[in-house]
Amino acid sequence: MFRTLSSILLALGFSAHAAEVRLYSERHYDADKQVFANFTKKTGIEVKVVKAGANELIARLKSETKAPQADLYITTDAASLTKATKAGLLAPLKSDIINQQVPAALRGKTDTWTAFTMRGRVIVYASDRVKGALPKSYEDLTSPAYRGNLLIRSSTNKYNRSLLASIIGIQGKTGATQWAAGVKENLARPPQGSDRDQIRAVAKGLGDFAVVNTYYLGIMEQSSNEEDQKARAAVKVIFPESSDRGTHVNISGGGIVKGAANQENALKFLEYLVSDEVQKLYQKLTSEYAVVEGIKLEPLQEAWGEISPDLESIHVMGDHDQEAVKIFNFVGWK
Ligand code: FE
Repeated sequence: MFRTLSSILLALGFSAHAAEVRLYSERHYDADKQVFANFTKKTGIEVKVVKAGANELIARLKSETKAPQADLYITTDAASLTKATKAGLLAPLKSDIINQQVPAALRGKTDTWTAFTMRGRVIVYASDRVKGALPKSYEDLTSPAYRGNLLIRSSTNKYNRSLLASIIGIQGKTGATQWAAGVKENLARPPQGSDRDQIRAVAKGLGDFAVVNTYYLGIMEQSSNEEDQKARAAVKVIFPESSDRGTHVNISGGGIVKGAANQENALKFLEYLVSDEVQKLYQKLTSEYAVVEGIKLEPLQEAWGEISPDLESIHVMGDHDQEAVKIFNFVGWK
């Protein structure tokens, strides 16, 4: 029988009209695969992912403005979404579902992106060794009381860059420089390794205090690696708060790429990510916080204590990102 080219292509699994959504994502969590598969099962829309760093993905988007190769830009950092917005790379995000589900404070001020998970940057400490007063704020970490006793990763990491950027936003350059210099002064060792490595180092006794993202505590607790479970169990959590703000948080979020071919699918996908179902699933699988109000915390999250997030700073991190790099270099925080 005579077969047309398109029927042959279909038989081979190609289709000119295959429903898809193409992501540029810097997220690196296995849980995403499960969430994406669930979305495809539900909608028939295939999810294609290119993973890379936030800046590399922005560079790609900039080079592709005439024919975007991605429909959604997904990051683990609000500053990157601000940067993409300022570069004019993101389309307006118009969705009643997203507006209903996600509080305004967790969406871009100019409606180009929405958060879909949140994480806190907290202090952990060796609960069996530390007997004295505990630090209550990020500022407390600069006290001479913690000299040689503090673990935190490199300043090139954007979790730290956004933390410092938020401090610049609140205290200005001088205050932020004093803070970074004070932390650097208290380090137990030259900055190295991941957030998880800081928790492992506290468990080994290299220092009593570390600064890490909340979800790594969950990942280690649920790990199949017994050493990591023990390291997690060796620390307790402090949610740093200051008189003028709550705990530093950052978000994972996404925005639709301007001029993208599959904008409708991209919107459906973002709406799916902020559905109650996926919000619950992310809390369970990655221990990130839901951004939708009223989603019950997982028991292991509840055990950390109660977070009072500094949501204002999310929107200014992107403005102070470059200044943060300068300050880190100035104080010699590698
Ligand atoms: Fe991470």
